[in-house]
Amino acid sequence: MTDNEFKQIKLFVLEEIKKTYQFSDVSMKLWLEPIRVVAMDGHSVTVSVPAPKKPFVEQQYYDVLKIKFCEVLGTDIELKLITDEEEAEMSEEFSEKVDSAYKIRFNPDYTFENFVVGKSNQLAQSAALAVANHPAELNNPLFLYGPSGLGKTHLLFSIVNQIRKNHPDYNILYVTSEEFTIELIESLSLKRPMAFREKYRNVDVLLVDDIQFIAGKMSVQEEFFHTFDALFKMNKQIILASDCAPKDINNLEERLKSRFEMGLVADIQPPDLELRVAIFKRKAMDYNFNLDIEILYYLAKHITTNIRQIEGALKKLKAHTLITGEECSYHMAKEILNEFFADEHSKESLIDRIMTLAEKRYGIQRDDIKSGRRNAEVIAARHYAMYLIRKTTNLSQNSIAKLFNKKDHTTVINAVSAIEKRMEHEPAFEKEIRAAVSELLS
Ligand code: ADP
Ligand code: MG
Repeated sequence: MTDNEFKQIKLFVLEEIKKTYQFSDVSMKLWLEPIRVVAMDGHSVTVSVPAPKKPFVEQQYYDVLKIKFCEVLGTDIELKLITDEEEAEMSEEFSEKVDSAYKIRFNPDYTFENFVVGKSNQLAQSAALAVANHPAELNNPLFLYGPSGLGKTHLLFSIVNQIRKNHPDYNILYVTSEEFTIELIESLSLKRPMAFREKYRNVDVLLVDDIQFIAGKMSVQEEFFHTFDALFKMNKQIILASDCAPKDINNLEERLKSRFEMGLVADIQPPDLELRVAIFKRKAMDYNFNLDIEILYYLAKHITTNIRQIEGALKKLKAHTLITGEECSYHMAKEILNEFFADEHSKESLIDRIMTLAEKRYGIQRDDIKSGRRNAEVIAARHYAMYLIRKTTNLSQNSIAKLFNKKDHTTVINAVSAIEKRMEHEPAFEKEIRAAVSELLS
């Protein structure tokens, strides 16, 4: 196995760790990113750690690393940690050369070049391309919408990259509406609204992703309205993406709706089978992976609504071919993917069971549990469901928050701590929760 392949595996593992455990960026950088995979066979993985860091990494992260290596490699392995000094002794050829030529391709830059076009996304793609080539001349604002995982963010980044290439001097700002909101709140609490305005009103191109999340927030809508108008008057390009059309965003001020509709509104529809095959082929290429057409069709049959799922499936396949050294045959792919899809499926049905439990226990419908309602019973049911999902799946706090239409993972943290507190004080409740968890896991 080559160095690059070791790096790929490490990358998968760190990504998985980050997803599941939500360690801070600082801890990831400090303790986990410096590790290197130096040897691997079917039974064991040897990882080297800078000598001064090894005791802490071993104490704090050994279990996490081991779990995730087993998961990524799909087999039980023994994990050995050594220091980089021991590693140097082990291998004579060892040198500290950093392979800078190697570019990690798992998160390829989103460009028009690697965006595959078909009937369902053609309008959005051509509008995006026109805006990228002629900012503020056509289609202002450009409003893209469609369900999650169909390429909206990919198109926004393609626009950014293209404009950057054509107009290196342009001031381009890409934010999610959440980032916009957080910055606004910070600037208000620091009493520095001018700095905020200066930043947002001095751009040539403003892209706001997931704009639907400003709905229902008065002061954010107010500020965004003025930002929009100021930029529009100066003939600057505005590009927005959302999960639904402007008219369908609930609790969005009318004046914003009408402004969002002033330019071009383009939707993205779910891709048909042929387009999915073409996209998956392209994604596989990004992973340096040559997949048979049969395998591509197999994937396209199973992944229908959210293109993002392809990444997980490809990673699983790649990890398997790396560890076994086998070519990816149709037979093998089917086996691995069946497992992958079953996993995804069982996660879904587990969540389904938890929602049913919560419905029964609290006598509240799941739509209400998932709603923003803040009555005490609804909140209690939501905490209960969040807690159980957190304890029985490996979904990240962010993904759990999303299941409940919350943008912020702190709601999950609050739910877990609320339940834990109650468990501490009420033995009967504790017993009940523990029983539920073990029932769900059995
Ligand atoms: P959204 O923002 O609509 O939720 P993303 O832009 O994040 O979706 O896309 C999810 C994943 O699917 C990304 O990896 C993206 O590259 C990929 N994807 C979606 N549509 C296409 C396409 N037409 N061509 C290539 N990749 C695509
Ligand atoms: Mg997106």
